[in-house]
Parts: sequence; structure tokens; C-alpha cells
Amino acid sequence: MPVTPALVRRRCVISGGVARTGELAASGIDRTSLSRALAEGEIIRLREGVYAVPDLPVPVQTAVRHGGALGCLSRVHAAGLWVLEAPEAVHVSMPRTGRRRRHEGCGCVTHWSRASTTEPRAPLGEALLQLHGCRGTEEFFVALESAMRKRFIGRPGVATLRARLPAKHRWLVDFARWDADSGLESLLRLRLRGLGLDLRSQVQIPGVGRVDFVLGDRLILEADGKANHVDAPDSASSASKRHKDLVRDAAAAALGFETLRFDYALIVHEWPMVEAAILARTSSGRHLSRRVAR
Ligand SMILES: [Zn+2]
Ligand SMILES: [Zn+2]
Repeated sequence: MPVTPALVRRRCVISGGVARTGELAASGIDRTSLSRALAEGEIIRLREGVYAVPDLPVPVQTAVRHGGALGCLSRVHAAGLWVLEAPEAVHVSMPRTGRRRRHEGCGCVTHWSRASTTEPRAPLGEALLQLHGCRGTEEFFVALESAMRKRFIGRPGVATLRARLPAKHRWLVDFARWDADSGLESLLRLRLRGLGLDLRSQVQIPGVGRVDFVLGDRLILEADGKANHVDAPDSASSASKRHKDLVRDAAAAALGFETLRFDYALIVHEWPMVEAAILARTSSGRHLSRRVAR
């Protein structure tokens, strides 16, 4: 008896949105049922013998057409983890025994993996490992802390990841925390580590309010434009925001704090300038309270 098109779709859903002819046949879905489901738009064909639900995200469709699974930066970004730069190309995790396939508009970045999953998305640990090799230390660390914060990865997963990293990079995992508030915090903590500066985020200061970061005891660092974009240029609201910022800075100064303000783009892309500004304040110990200043 033919299976209804909706049931064919459901079979794809239970295997992550993608199913192969063999899996479908094993579930009792014959060619006639498959053709009907395709004709009625309940499923789509990604490539020879591979079908998917029509609302499968386009990057995942691309990765499967390429012959693999969504991997590296694309996988991490699709999972909603913090990234410094959103992916422009689709990063594909390819099983070592797999074959890269030609498909329309291919601009994919291929990563060969020892995992041989048929899932349309690479395991997160695998994707993080690929990210380290592809985008380097900072992008990896930011995504790792985000995965830890969201509990998308547990202690065993973190331990496995650490063991698979090159030995000289394992300190990154040891340095990572489970409670980072934002990707910006992860990035700042990593960059300030080399300067021997202690960083606290989302600090509540009585009379001032919640500030983004405090370095040492008395240096406030505020990051404007929290996300990966600049604030909308609305002159009335930006004037009132500027006024509020000045009030906060004055209140903080009255309590002995100094405030440095940067925007997200400056911190991420113009770090030497930001670092020089921070060092000018901290090298003389002005960021430490009298109690602890040397
Ligand atoms: Zn491709
Ligand atoms: Zn990559």
C-alpha cells in the first residue's frame, strides 16, 4: 500500500530533515510514494538518492548537495553561537570516504573530517575543531565559550575537544569558562590575558548602573553597538543616548572610575588602537584602587 506524501515528509524529519533512498525504502516507502511526495512538494530532491523537507535551511541543503554536512563556521553560526564574522560561504564537513560533488553555484569551503555521519549537520565538537583550523584561535574561543554557556557541549565533549586539539592550543580549552556573557567578553578576556589584566563583565556599580566591563578595580570599558552592526543613525535618539552616556561617565568619575568607550567594530577590528588606550590607563596602575595600587 502506498504511503501518503505527508508520511514521507515525516520520515525525512526524523532523520534531521534529510533521508536517503535506502533509508526511505527500509521504512517501506516505495518509488511511487516517493514520486507522489515530490510532486506534491512535501519533499525536495537535493541530489541523486537524497531527499529533504522543503524548509531545510539553505546552507544545510548546499552542504548536502556538496556531498557532506554543514560544518565549521556555518554549523556554529546556524546553531546560534557567537561568531565574530558571519560565514559568507558554506563550510562543509566531508566524510573522509566521501566524494565532493559538483552543484550549481558552489562556493563551498570543504573540510575533510574523520567523522562519517550521514546527518546533515556535523557534530558540534567536530565543527568547533574545524573552526579552530579554519578561522584560528579567537573565532574558536568565542564559539567554544558560547557553546559552553548555552550547554550545547558538556564536560565530556569539552574533554574530547581538548584532546583532539594540537597540544600547543589546549590551553584555550583550559582558559574557557562556562559563564561568559557575550562573544565580546570572550574576545576581550582572551586578548587581555596576555596583558595580565583581570576583566569582569556586566558589573553593577551603585549610582552608575550596569556597565559592560571593569578592568582591574576602576577602569570601565563600555562597548557600544553590542551586536555585529552599528547603531541606527537616528539623531534624536543618539543625542539622548549620548547624554545618558555622559551622565553615567560623570557619575562613574565621581566614584573614582575612569571610562573608556569603544564600539564593537573598533574592539574587533582595530584592536591595537584599543589596546594602546587601555595600556595607557593601566600601565601606571590607575585602574587599581588605592587599596591595592602599588
Ligand atoms: Zn559546494
Ligand atoms: Zn571552515
